[in-house]
Amino acid sequence: MPELPEVEHTARQLRASIVGATINEARVFWERTIGYPALPAFLSSMVARQVGGIRRRGKFLLLDLSGDLVLTIHRRMTGNLLILPPGWKIDTSLQQADPLAWSTKGPSFRKILASPGDDQPSAGTSNSTAHLQSNVADPRLAHCRVCFYLTDGRYLLFTDPRKFGRIELWPRELEGEALRGLGTEPLDEEFTVEQLKKVLAAHKSTIKQTLLTQEVIAGLGNIYADEALFYAAIHPLRRADSLSPLEIRLLREGILSVLTSAIERRGTSFNDYRDLWGEAGENYDHILVYHRTGQPCLRCSTPIERITIAQRSTHYCPNCQKLTSE
Ligand SMILES: [Zn+2]
Repeated sequence: MPELPEVEHTARQLRASIVGATINEARVFWERTIGYPALPAFLSSMVARQVGGIRRRGKFLLLDLSGDLVLTIHRRMTGNLLILPPGWKIDTSLQQADPLAWSTKGPSFRKILASPGDDQPSAGTSNSTAHLQSNVADPRLAHCRVCFYLTDGRYLLFTDPRKFGRIELWPRELEGEALRGLGTEPLDEEFTVEQLKKVLAAHKSTIKQTLLTQEVIAGLGNIYADEALFYAAIHPLRRADSLSPLEIRLLREGILSVLTSAIERRGTSFNDYRDLWGEAGENYDHILVYHRTGQPCLRCSTPIERITIAQRSTHYCPNCQKLTSE
């Protein structure tokens, strides 16, 4: 579920917090989270790697590592990244005690008791993680699949209740392999009205389905596709190749508008998405149609309707977004 704004927000937080840090080693608690290479090669390659930079491409997060390696992280439905300050112990005893429960829950985390009088946060930690320290049973620490140990004592956790998220490690020169087929970056200069017009003209499927296709525009998912179509007053069942020049212009404007304002508000949290410090995004209250079925349209008060397109729930205003004949 994290889409471009959520991944972009995480990328910016990571850039501010772990660039220059060194990953000492990685521990993997759910093997299938690692998509490439095979686990032993992944683990042996993830030793003493300095983080040189953080990038985003579509919904992929890219960590540039020393030795010309790129770590790609795709969160899919429920994957999240979280930084833990120094002073935590990872308890993996469940793995032996109850393998079935382990496969769901993953490890638990315990705060190492500080010596008396030593309650100052350690260097390099953010104050915003202070709340995590006081609550050992914090649900945000559950379902950890991969943990990266940083040499400064911090942990970078990948939590993922549904386990669809994937992490891969590629040599830099093969990065294109990991990202092959991704379409235009909507926040790049190349995303012009002309470019959008050209790709839409090549698609006979519905505009909703086309917007979800990562080969067309990289990074859009269900929330922002619905919101962008509402912005442009386009019915989600319209054929992609049937949009007028004005509609295409409005659609591009809508995509840019919903993505940039969601990034400013640190993303949208419906259920699982949290930022690097475990905080929810603030865009939820600014969503106009997504998951508002039956509630009045904020423009015209007509109840928002929900239909299914390409197996994805789709929300729109039947009055503002009319299905006009071509
Ligand atoms: Zn309306």
